[in-house]
Amino acid sequence: MLFPVKSGKPVRTLVFATNNPHKAREVEQILGDGFEVKTLRDIGCFEEIEETEPTLEGNAILKAHYVKEKYGYDCFSEDTGLEVDALGGAPGVYTARYAGEEKSPEANIALLLKNLEGVEHRRARFRTVIALAMNGRELLLEGICEGHIAPEKRGSGGFGYDPVFVPDGFEQTFAELGDEVKNQISHRARATARLMEVLKD
Ligand code: IMP
Repeated sequence: MLFPVKSGKPVRTLVFATNNPHKAREVEQILGDGFEVKTLRDIGCFEEIEETEPTLEGNAILKAHYVKEKYGYDCFSEDTGLEVDALGGAPGVYTARYAGEEKSPEANIALLLKNLEGVEHRRARFRTVIALAMNGRELLLEGICEGHIAPEKRGSGGFGYDPVFVPDGFEQTFAELGDEVKNQISHRARATARLMEVLKD
């Protein structure tokens, strides 16, 4: 863990084992001014870390271990899945590659909507698991956002499945709600809030 000083204030630097700029920006916004988030690219890790485990927890741990062992940084990683009740919890751990290895968000959404055609019960949730590997300790933290799958794509914000996910308490999709609202209620926001509590101790 590094402690540089930015604009006269101490900033805690954390390595987030991702190269997804959307995720990194969300987490940095949620953590606030006291933290600087470095991604894999920032520490010189350009290779893709294969997610080969059958659970979100397993994949989150795998990525955190990889960075700790190969690059020596304390770090955290996360894995997120979309669990749709009418599909028996799918796509779950296969959310990124639901429609194939090219991991296309457009193709994933198209397949999801096709598989839910004519289905009334559209309850779903995003589940994020964060694995923190720090000071020889390892911790798993979870964040869940309940909602449902919209009948069609709506909105232009966010990323991934955001245009079809409507969180409970709202009528708009995450893509329509925008970052500010999403970052208060999302699966990642909830898991990151737990991460902050741990980091404060
Ligand atoms: P991974 O955690 O990078 O493996 O991502 C799993 C899949 O979930 C990818 O297809 C992401 O685009 C998608 N995903 C992860 N987080 C979100 C989110 O906050 N909103 C929408 N899709 C997401």
